[in-house]
Amino acid sequence: ECKVAFLGLGTMGYKMAGNLQAHSRLKVAVWNRNANVADKHAKEHQSEMHANVKDAVKDCKYVFCCLPTTQIVREVLKDVTEETTVIDCTSGEPDASRELAEELSKRGIRYIDAPVSGGPKGALAATLTIMVGCQDEDTFDEIEALLEVIGQKVIHVGPVGSGHAVKAINNSMNASALLLSAEGLLALSQVGVKPDVALDVINASSGRNLSTQERIPKFVLTGDFNFGFSLKLMSKDNNIASTLMKGPLSDGYATRTAKLLQEACEELEEGADFTACVKLLESRVGVQLR
Ligand code: NDP
Repeated sequence: ECKVAFLGLGTMGYKMAGNLQAHSRLKVAVWNRNANVADKHAKEHQSEMHANVKDAVKDCKYVFCCLPTTQIVREVLKDVTEETTVIDCTSGEPDASRELAEELSKRGIRYIDAPVSGGPKGALAATLTIMVGCQDEDTFDEIEALLEVIGQKVIHVGPVGSGHAVKAINNSMNASALLLSAEGLLALSQVGVKPDVALDVINASSGRNLSTQERIPKFVLTGDFNFGFSLKLMSKDNNIASTLMKGPLSDGYATRTAKLLQEACEELEEGADFTACVKLLESRVGVQLR
């Protein structure tokens, strides 16, 4: 029986591994740092639970991982002794991943970055967008069908590390749009226009974006702040994006957004959702958008 491994069953990985088990002919071996989660996955999805990485990856042609950072990916992959192909769905660091790919190649391991967008909802529905960084078209052709099991749009964006670069910039654009939209709504509140009324206009006008249309109405105005993507991880992605902004680009939006998110991490409660960064602006302005 053909096997793949999945390392890291967090908000995203748990659902992606479940879809791989349900919708491919592969047996999925799962590992998670907290073994209870892997145990639950095995029971819920008929995957194969392993207590350590070395056992999980045994006889696996492909090893997926979806972990918080590249540094953690590097640590976890230390225990991979199998000659295999790693498909890293973590939103990681381009430069560090290129270095990691070189190190791994000396151990007979091929590394591909394949970060995803679409959030927990997209992970569950297998409608993720997957941005693949790998050396050549042949490698991409080999893994494309496998990635289509968990994603709807699978795109080869360039060599190793470039998937991570696209992902970081995407999240920088996403967080920047959220913050600038919130700033606009706060200014309008100060002149007496209610946020829902302002959004009604803006969403029928040219200022509309994903934040004005979905994120702010669903997660900010309701006071829910529970999209399912942590502020800490969003801040990490924005820091990566700001390192990609060189020369004249370095004092653009990406740098300011990264700074604001870092401050939000320091000021808001541990475990806060990324949408809660709006609370930082609210408290500074002294106005609430709800
Ligand atoms: P979560 O915080 O929900 O899950 C993190 C996972 O990593 C858990 O399985 C956790 O294990 C494991 N982990 C954490 N620290 C370590 C460690 N030191 N050693 C081993 N395992 C560890 O993260 P998400 O699923 O939200 O995100 C995973 C990746 O996907 C991130 O890079 C994120 O940026 C990216 N992403 C997230 C999206 C989202 O909307 N949530 C969307 C797109 C990308 P344990 O259970 O033991 O804590």
